[in-house]
Amino acid sequence: MNNHKHKLLLLNPPSVKPVFRDCYCSGTSKGTFFIHPLDLQIQSGFFSQTEFELEFIDAVCERLSPAKTLGKIGKFAPDTILSLVGETFLKDDAAFFSQLKSAFPPVRLFLSGDTAKFSPEKLFRNVPEAEGLLTDFSSPGLLEHLTGRSSANLRVSTSNPEPRTPNSVSKYVEYPIPWAGFMQKYPYQLPFFNDPRYYSIIASFGCPYQCRYCNTHLIGYRTRKIEHFMEELHFAFASGFKSLYVRDATFMVDKERTLRLFEEWKKTGLHFQWICFTRPDLIDEELVAKASSVGCCLMMLGVESFDEDCLKNNMSRSISLTSIRNAFRLLRKYGIRSAAQMMIGMRRNFQNISDYEENLRRFLRNIDPDYISLSVFFRRPGIEAVDPIFTHIESNEKLYKTLAVRINRIFYFHPRTLGRQIHLIRTPKQFALLFKIAAGLIMRR
Ligand code: SF4
Repeated sequence: MNNHKHKLLLLNPPSVKPVFRDCYCSGTSKGTFFIHPLDLQIQSGFFSQTEFELEFIDAVCERLSPAKTLGKIGKFAPDTILSLVGETFLKDDAAFFSQLKSAFPPVRLFLSGDTAKFSPEKLFRNVPEAEGLLTDFSSPGLLEHLTGRSSANLRVSTSNPEPRTPNSVSKYVEYPIPWAGFMQKYPYQLPFFNDPRYYSIIASFGCPYQCRYCNTHLIGYRTRKIEHFMEELHFAFASGFKSLYVRDATFMVDKERTLRLFEEWKKTGLHFQWICFTRPDLIDEELVAKASSVGCCLMMLGVESFDEDCLKNNMSRSISLTSIRNAFRLLRKYGIRSAAQMMIGMRRNFQNISDYEENLRRFLRNIDPDYISLSVFFRRPGIEAVDPIFTHIESNEKLYKTLAVRINRIFYFHPRTLGRQIHLIRTPKQFALLFKIAAGLIMRR
């Protein structure tokens, strides 16, 4: 490489609606939250201490049109772009990449995302301009490729055929601390923290469970060394963050390891408020107490259905209602807020929708979460499961989306929920953000 620094742009391409395209999943964002694109955050670390000059554009967060995005790209004049791509809006993304290559023909284009991982041939057909696909965003695959080494984690269009990316034989996921410029570029915010500006971090990658509707387990499961997690905690703190989003698909899989992680965390003396995703059957009183003692303020629990039979037999997610109720009770006992993630419509008796709605509302009253998040089943890339419930929901998608909007409104405008949210507001920044979110709920059709 000569004296000219190789300019690498990390790009979240434009979209008319707020969308997400990272962690091998893509869809429309709920509410007005913006989350760090984790693929790009992790990739930034591989390049930050090298001869590469980095830039990051999140056109979704900036609400940039394709033309404005191209204008910003032109100002940086990159040699290479690593862009996210999403199966859900592949047509629009492909049209943008075609415009991009027409505007900047010499630019080398690489893609990361769900389609890159699970349907690489389809992606090359749709985006022939792409030089390569990063099939493991926790790997240095792109760096290796750009510095003349071959990588099992970067699928190059001319290499034909290339085997599916083998999951790393290591049980650990390892990557460098992210580029500081990435973390500081955009004020991503969430309303759950006193200081809504937060840092994203992971303690594991993938998931060891095998839920039939989810593709996360298809990438395997690797943990991060506890010392690496602590190192990044120090980096986040030194960078001025007081709030953390632990982005593991399923945090606290291994109780003994999690307790060790909390112990080490406590020893650092670093104070954060933090949130995470986990399963209700993974938490017990000891874990909840320790999590609370190191600043956990919210756990988002994958409940998905109130029908045990459906959970076990249709969703391959055997969780008892007793453990679900117990998890919500424990969180309340230790002052950790709870969010119930539900997949709307998931029950074995799927014929009667009004009975379903009544049962769901009764169930929610019973577990009494602070927040709910309702999603409608859609076939993520890599998921081929056939099930009468999935098929029923797919063919009645509009009905279930309408139901989700109605239940959301009823829940969030219930006096008990409103009272709790007002009670939790500690700072003007939190108030402003919650106000924006409430406006979004009212406006959503
Ligand atoms: S536990 Fe969660 S992340 Fe893991 S496979 Fe099931 S739904 Fe996916």
